[in-house]
Amino acid sequence: MHIAQRMSRLGTETAFEVLVKARKLEAEGRDIVHLEIGEPDFDTPQNIVDAATEALRDGFTHYGPAAGLPQAREAVAEYIERTRPGVSCSADEIVITPGAKPIMFYAMMATLDEGDEVIYPNPGFPIYESVINFLGAKPVALPLQESKEFRFDLDDLEARISKRTRMLIINTPQNPTGGILTREDVEGIARLAHEHNLIVFSDEIYSRITYDGFQHTSILEFPGMKERTIMLDGFSKTYAMTGWRLGYGMMPASIASMVAKLQTNCTSCTSSFTQVAGIEALRGPQEAADEMIAEFRRRRDAIVDGLNRIPGFRCHRPHGAFYVFPNIEGTGYSSQRMADYLLYEAGVACLSGTAFGQFGEGYIRFSYANSIDNINRALDRINDAVSKLVRDEARIEG
Ligand code: PLP
Repeated sequence: MHIAQRMSRLGTETAFEVLVKARKLEAEGRDIVHLEIGEPDFDTPQNIVDAATEALRDGFTHYGPAAGLPQAREAVAEYIERTRPGVSCSADEIVITPGAKPIMFYAMMATLDEGDEVIYPNPGFPIYESVINFLGAKPVALPLQESKEFRFDLDDLEARISKRTRMLIINTPQNPTGGILTREDVEGIARLAHEHNLIVFSDEIYSRITYDGFQHTSILEFPGMKERTIMLDGFSKTYAMTGWRLGYGMMPASIASMVAKLQTNCTSCTSSFTQVAGIEALRGPQEAADEMIAEFRRRRDAIVDGLNRIPGFRCHRPHGAFYVFPNIEGTGYSSQRMADYLLYEAGVACLSGTAFGQFGEGYIRFSYANSIDNINRALDRINDAVSKLVRDEARIEG
């Protein structure tokens, strides 16, 4: 059958492809430690599950409004005000979607014209670049720097702004590096957005997952930014709800109605009973989420310390999200070759840094949303496999 030309411009997310390869090895009897997929290994907290089953019994089994149930939009608006100091938000600025990901697609569809330039973090979540290309807009990569704890230079950002720049994408805390923008960074970005009349797409899906006293700063907190910002957040990471598919965006009401129209054309609406469970997630007890975050911090320390003992690896200790992005240049292997080597030789699934863009070369990504036991098992295996490799290379050179 004919395939439309535009499909050649659509990218993908390698994490799911690596998962398929890993599952194939498991089917052949291999034991694999999964550190590739960015999803909490915890179960969804019980109060949220109970709210969903109750909602099913109460008849939340029908279509709902395209932008989301009014009470769910209300709860999200209230949560945003609670978690972003000084930000005012009303329900008509919220659209609820099946997972947060559609907000990327819908919001860019609603605001980008062909030829518009979009500045985006690289390495970064691969779907940004994919959607920009798909829409015929032009991706302009903004390199993140390991020496700046995977933040970027404001001067670098400014140098990339042209007359065609329509949008700037930021993601803090960040996937794949765990980097987090400081308040000064965000303030500087807000200033540039005003000066150059840019739309800011602010991906805040990891906003609650921060460590060491680092606080997430939303660009919405700066004067006048609400009018030019589309903010993405959701339930997948904070409440271990990846499979529920529930997320949301906050944006000016005029854009929200366009995004709702896109949703009418694609999915009609987000599942009604999951939205009711989402209200419980936001308004109910937060202890389970806080405990998960405390456990992530312990795992982060275990994986960072372990990786820094492996020859040729150098791993920064990130302050957010649940990823580490070690530099592996010292091994002499490229990122993709190392990711394949670790999967096939060590039975550890991870992602090549290049799955997140060209500036990911020299790095690999591990998700530490897995148990301490599995993380330790993975570290032992990586250490054995990489030490062997370094010994073999030394022998060949000798
Ligand atoms: N944004 C970033 C940076 C992510 O890492 C992810 C998921 O991995 C998403 C958005 C999408 O979240 P959801 O699963 O709610 O669609």
